[in-house]
Amino acid sequence: MRPARSTARRFGILALTAVVLGTWSPAAASAPHPGGSAAFTADPLALSATVEAVPAAKLLDTYRAGCPVGPDDLRLIRMNYWGFDGATHPGELIVHKNVVDPVLEVFTKVFAARFPIARMQVMADFHGDDEAAMKADNTSAFNCREVTGDPSTQSQHSYGDAIDINTVENPYVDINGQVHPSSAAPFLNRAQTVPGMIQPGDVVHSAMRAIGWQWGGRWSNPDYQHFSRNGRSL
Ligand SMILES: [Zn+2]
Repeated sequence: MRPARSTARRFGILALTAVVLGTWSPAAASAPHPGGSAAFTADPLALSATVEAVPAAKLLDTYRAGCPVGPDDLRLIRMNYWGFDGATHPGELIVHKNVVDPVLEVFTKVFAARFPIARMQVMADFHGDDEAAMKADNTSAFNCREVTGDPSTQSQHSYGDAIDINTVENPYVDINGQVHPSSAAPFLNRAQTVPGMIQPGDVVHSAMRAIGWQWGGRWSNPDYQHFSRNGRSL
């Protein structure tokens, strides 16, 4: 826990650097180009991450007045991921500005290991509909909403520091025992070997633990797709 914290703190200081530069890489983060204009090379075989303010269109249906975290505190990360087809694809993820660097540490490891991700689109593409996104096997972070299956609780996704990964291979069981997405019930059998399924100790789980994030797969009502900074809900 302690090393993870110090790493998070070290990279936390560099969040502003990443935003200013636009292009993120561990090298750029530790030794920013003096001119501050690192050339963006969208190498498809690298993570090729960029970080920017979130355009309003990317927050449609997912942010509204009264939400706990506003657009100014969010960032749009664009980065490549390895798909189930063995090729890389450009993805988009919206997170809180304070977690940009640790999140990119995670996805750097996930990319290097070629852990497959089905798709990575902002929740505006699904009109903020968590069920629709889960059914589409989407990987996403920010979405100002209540907990799916428990409307009395604000989801941690509202704060931009929770991420759901491969929602079909990693379903979620709500407080009433209902499986989301409903088509993913076969994946509640965690003994099987399935590409994109998160397992204790695998690259996703280990990378998340290294930044101090907690996995919902350990809960009595498991949320296998869910990781969050503070270990909170769904
Ligand atoms: Zn979640």
